[in-house]
Amino acid sequence: MLRTLLAALFLFGYLLTVAWVTPHPAPALTHPDEHLSERQLFFSLRDDLALGQRTAAEIDGNPAEYPILDPAQHPQAYAYIQQIVDRLLASGQVRYAKQFPWRVRIINKDVLNAFCAPGGYIYVYTGLIRFLDAEYELAGVMGHEMAHADRRHTSRQLEKAYGIAIISQMALGSNSGGLAQQAAQIAQGLASLSFSRSHEREADEWSVRYLCNTGYPAFGAARFFEKLQKMQQGQGTPQFLSTHPDPGNRVNAIHTRAQQLRCTGTQTLDAPYEAFKASLPFTPPAPQPARR
Ligand SMILES: [Zn+2]
Repeated sequence: MLRTLLAALFLFGYLLTVAWVTPHPAPALTHPDEHLSERQLFFSLRDDLALGQRTAAEIDGNPAEYPILDPAQHPQAYAYIQQIVDRLLASGQVRYAKQFPWRVRIINKDVLNAFCAPGGYIYVYTGLIRFLDAEYELAGVMGHEMAHADRRHTSRQLEKAYGIAIISQMALGSNSGGLAQQAAQIAQGLASLSFSRSHEREADEWSVRYLCNTGYPAFGAARFFEKLQKMQQGQGTPQFLSTHPDPGNRVNAIHTRAQQLRCTGTQTLDAPYEAFKASLPFTPPAPQPARR
């Protein structure tokens, strides 16, 4: 164990050195997957936080792509959605409940999706909020997104997509022009970052664990997936499914897990959720492809 740790530290130190002395992003080194198992990651927790902060700053500073509702103008909506997060954090199941900020932003766009940057920066589209009918459903989907950050799937996928050298430089806070561009690109890619089916299965399972014993029915995410399946008939693939591929039998797997864990919550909270939806401003419909 110690030897593995030392080897990992040595390799990480080497990569950081490469990152520091190379003026441009270092060429892709040996892919980390060749050395490390699925469970291991080059990134430290502090790197996750730094990368998340930087990515969140890019997203928050790009209102054309991410029209975020101003928390100062919508304090009630934010208090409502934040209490959902706090309830999940109080479950005792979120590994980095205290280390990550778990901050939420609402993007006012007709997109059926949500995502979470490393370090726990959560983004939820109004398109998703309006699609759902009860608080426990949103809690289930948010639990799923939080799990991707908490189990560090997002960092792993970013590492795969962009290479360890670039991601390390970003986490270190290097400010070169090229890197700022990379940060923008990563922020852009985050909303469309696709997870593996094994990560999806794991995020579904942790969503159940987060919701169990909070008072919510633990299968909130399953309700969302059922709705998605119904909607999908005759329509294109919603963005959520292109970024969160169905691991297969996910609705059944979620219900089975909730039963195994003896989750007994019954608070669906439909009425407060309707009030929350009604308090949101008008969302412009998604732009149609230009016609000539
Ligand atoms: Zn997912």
